[in-house]
Amino acid sequence: MPYPETVNLAFNRAVIEPEFAFSTPDRDVPAAPGYWLVLRENALLVRPSPTDGRPELPLGPGPLAGPYAVPPVFVGTYRGRPLRAARLAPEAAVAPGLVAVPAGYRATELDEKLLTLAGIARQVLHWRDRSRICPACGGAPREIAGTFGARCPSCAREYYPRLHPAIIVLIARGDEYLLVRKPGWPQGQYGMVAGFVEFAESLEECVVREVAEETGLAVDDIRYVGSQNWPFPSQLMAGFTARCAGGSLRLDTNELEAAAWFSAKNPPPVLPAASSIARFILDHHAADMVAAALARK
Ligand SMILES: [Zn+2]
Repeated sequence: MPYPETVNLAFNRAVIEPEFAFSTPDRDVPAAPGYWLVLRENALLVRPSPTDGRPELPLGPGPLAGPYAVPPVFVGTYRGRPLRAARLAPEAAVAPGLVAVPAGYRATELDEKLLTLAGIARQVLHWRDRSRICPACGGAPREIAGTFGARCPSCAREYYPRLHPAIIVLIARGDEYLLVRKPGWPQGQYGMVAGFVEFAESLEECVVREVAEETGLAVDDIRYVGSQNWPFPSQLMAGFTARCAGGSLRLDTNELEAAAWFSAKNPPPVLPAASSIARFILDHHAADMVAAALARK
């Protein structure tokens, strides 16, 4: 399979185009009825479809009853109507006719589109929540038209939404690949080495460092696979494959509780979540990577 390719995964905007068009809060027409992305803790409030019971976004004129942890924000249009996101306070009641369904990356009741829309809500509301107070002077920043940024009226500093780049990498050795496990994960669940990019570091350098820190292994033949927006709360995951080039397995026990080599014949007991780039890499690239490693022998 060619590298790189487009990754159409949950949480990437392509999943909800062309029904969704991103735009900024100042484009809202407040009186216009629209769709609502309402989060309460880790759940999205949905309305079961009257025809088949499948979850749908509530559609209506006004905001749902609060109290709000983060008040409504216009995030664009969905199916030609305004789309607004809000976060209810944990103690807020769920309005009649709505149901709170889990909206995390392991959620199973929401399809990819609703997961992605919930991700947009999560990310925008996280930013709104974190940008209410100017960290420099304690002022109250106000929206900058045409952006999701904010300018502090007291000290004139400007703030813009931030995403945090991180890498995730599948390490191959012959016909095997290495997966790791963090404490507290569901039984049998394994994932890939992953971590945040540090100061003065490229994505490839981050791959080498994270693999060395977490596993003690050296890697080469680092190949970019694709990326996924990861709104938990605001990461951008860059996916890679790499070849084990030596070293011996030595786990960072502060972060990981286990690591193991798996293969096509010996897969992990529980695969990474279907909506994750980890699963995408396993499904699309593990076989290619192993074939390439064997061809080089
Ligand atoms: Zn300020």
